[in-house]
Formats: sequence, C-alpha cells, structure tokens
Amino acid sequence: MLQPVAVGHKSLADYTHLVGRPLVEEIRELAEALQGLKVLHLSATAFGGGVSEILYTLIPLMRDVGIEADWQIMIGREEFYNVTKLMHNSLQGSDQTISDDEWVIYERYNRINALELSDGWDVIIVHDPQPAAVHQHVPEKARKWVWRCHIDLSTPNPDTIEHVVPLVRGYDDSVFHLQDYVPSALNGASEQKIHICPPAIDPLSPKNMALSPEDAAFVCDQFGVDVDRPLICQVSRFDPWKDPIGVIDAYRQVTEQIPEVQLALVGSMATDDPEGWEFFNSTLEYAQGDPDIKILNNLNNVGAIEVNAFQSQADVVIQKSTREGFGLTVSEALWKARPFIGGDVGGIPLQVKDGETGFLVSSPDQCAERSLEILREPELGKKLARAGKEHVRRHFLTPRLLRDWLRIFSDST
Ligand code: UDP
Repeated sequence: MLQPVAVGHKSLADYTHLVGRPLVEEIRELAEALQGLKVLHLSATAFGGGVSEILYTLIPLMRDVGIEADWQIMIGREEFYNVTKLMHNSLQGSDQTISDDEWVIYERYNRINALELSDGWDVIIVHDPQPAAVHQHVPEKARKWVWRCHIDLSTPNPDTIEHVVPLVRGYDDSVFHLQDYVPSALNGASEQKIHICPPAIDPLSPKNMALSPEDAAFVCDQFGVDVDRPLICQVSRFDPWKDPIGVIDAYRQVTEQIPEVQLALVGSMATDDPEGWEFFNSTLEYAQGDPDIKILNNLNNVGAIEVNAFQSQADVVIQKSTREGFGLTVSEALWKARPFIGGDVGGIPLQVKDGETGFLVSSPDQCAERSLEILREPELGKKLARAGKEHVRRHFLTPRLLRDWLRIFSDST
C-alpha cells in the first residue's frame, strides 16, 4: 500500500474575510455538482518544498467543500530519489543527463507504485515528474488523470524531456504554473487539456498567520538574532538555484555601507533531497563563521512558526533564485507585508511587479543596491510591501487555487 498522509481540518468559511464573499460563493456553487468526487493526490514526499506545503492546505479545503480528497506518498528509496533529483535538475535546465540504468530505476519504482495503487478513483492528480510514469501502467484505476507540474520546464535538457513527454502525454489533463513551462511537444500535440494555474499559500496556516511584531522578535531572538538591528532573510531549501551564495555576496556589500545588518538563511532539508546537505555545508563554509550570518535548518527546530517569525521580522526578505518554478516563499513574504527582493526568473515576476510590489534583480550587485535602498528608505519599503500584500490577496491565496481545481474537475468529469 502507498502511504496515506494525514491532513488536518480546515474550513473555507474561515477564509471569507481574507478573500471576499464572491470567491467563496463561486467555490460553493462549483462544488455543488462535485459532491463525493473521489480524488487522489499522488506525490513523492509529504515533507519539504512547495508541493507538500500546498497539499496540506488544499486537501482539507477540498474535503470541506464535499470532495473526497486523499493524499498518498510514493514508495521510494535513496536510489530512486537520487535519480528523481537528477531528473528534477535536468528538467529545469542543468546539463546533467540520466543514464539508461538510472531510467531503469525510475521505471521500476513507478511500476511498483502503480501496482500498489488502489482503484475506483474519479480523478488521480500526479504531482511532478517523480510519479509521472505510474499512469501508463494502470490507466484503469481512475476515470481522469491529471499531471500537475510544479517545476519550470521552459529550458529542459532535451534528452530528459524527450523521455518524460511520452509519459505525460497520456494524461487527460495537465496543469502548469505558467504558459512558458508547457513543453512544446505537449502543446497542441495531443487530446490533453492544458491548464495554467499558479499555486497559492494558506493565509491561516501557522507559517502565514498574523504574528505580532513582539512575538516575531521573541522567536528570532531565540536564534541569536539581535532584534534591534536590521535583518535580511532568505527562506529556502539549500539548493544552488536558490542562490544563497549570491545572497551572502549581496549581504557583504550591504554591510560595507550599513555594518549592523544581519543575515538569516533559513532552509529546510527535504527527505527526497540527498544533495541538500552537501550544499548546506558549502554555504556554511562560504559564510566563514561570520556571527551575523545565521544559517538555520529544520534540525535546529526551525518549523513553520519560526519561518513565519523570520519572514515577519526581516527588514528585507530576499528570494534570489536563479531558477524558480513559482516560489511560494515570495507570496509568503509579501503576505506578511515585507519589503521584498526576488530574482527575475520563473514564477517570481508573476508575484513581484518590479518597483510596485517589490524589486526584481539579476545579480548580487543589484540585490545589494535594492537592499540598501529599502534599508535607507523605510517608507519606500512599506509602500511596496502594502501593494505586495494586496497582490497576493487577489491572486495567490489557497481559495483561488481551490476554485481553479474545481473548475478543472467540472470540465473534465
Ligand atoms: N520552507 C520551510 N522551511 C525552510 C525552508 C523552506 O518551511 O526552512 C518552506 C517555504 O516556507 C515554502 C516551501 O518550503 O513554503 C518552499 O516552496 P518554494 O515554492 O519556495 O520552493 P521549492 O522548495 O518548492 O523549490
């Protein structure tokens, strides 16, 4: 049996004051015709990264409106995760390739998982490439199959995408964050319906709920941050594409002008991310023991509340990615009305309108310049942050994502 994931309870009604009555009513109307629909979400991990973050909120809300939604995790071992991590990197444009032996491992685990899958589903939603090959073995186990891609496929390694496209072509529907991410080989080439819908954050989860400045300061203080001095923060997995090294470079330039600035790099280590530790250690080394750089991970007891506290406390929140499927951390920071600087890549410009809801940058130098601007001109930072919060309210809170899914279910079941 695949491992089921327990998710808590959430009620859509609690979100009305945040997203407005019209959206909540639209959701209820769409849900009327979908009562009792059996929907399975299948993903590779229940911990770490954006996919699990989204599902912990989306699934309880689906249930609350009458969908019988479940979530199961693939059976996998290190050899499988090593291949899928490589696949992930390679699909997002690295020049790493996957050998025939590695494809055999990938296929083997997908076949095992397919056989373990129970049947009788109305819809199975397969998240990301890890379980993408399950469908071809057991198409009869659901009336509809949807492939939900959370990564940036705009410049994939040609060999890898050539291997993946045939696996996902057989799905009834596919869902991408941006039109740019739809592989050209899928576009118009099959019967498949392609939907574009970006992810969203949960404004009521412990990570995003309102935290008073005093409480945020209290938590950050426990991690050694001097809460009376300015703080720059980036929250993200330790991954080269998140560019924590570039953030350290930017921070060093900032401290030449404003020496009291501190930096926090907060990064969880995902269970399916064997490379993470290696990169964590090299980031640590790059910081050269600077006591004003705090490098923290979930093994330091940094959980959702702590992430919330760091994002709420920071004078500038950065997500200096050089590649980014969407970047939930961007909406998380903007929702907390923090001045924000993001890499001008992937899903970040969808959330950050340069100069309106934050700043977009393409180098550590630019990142340092914009940080200094915000630190020297708090009113500017506040103005950007307020506009950022409203942008997130309109476009990137989970009820909007729930509405998009109900629309997909409505026109495909
Ligand atoms: N995250 C976390 N703790 C950390 C680092 C990251 O809880 O130490 C969360 C972060 O708040 C966000 C998610 O993990 O909700 C990362 O999603 P994102 O889309 O930003 O990036 P991904 O990891 O999926 O590439």
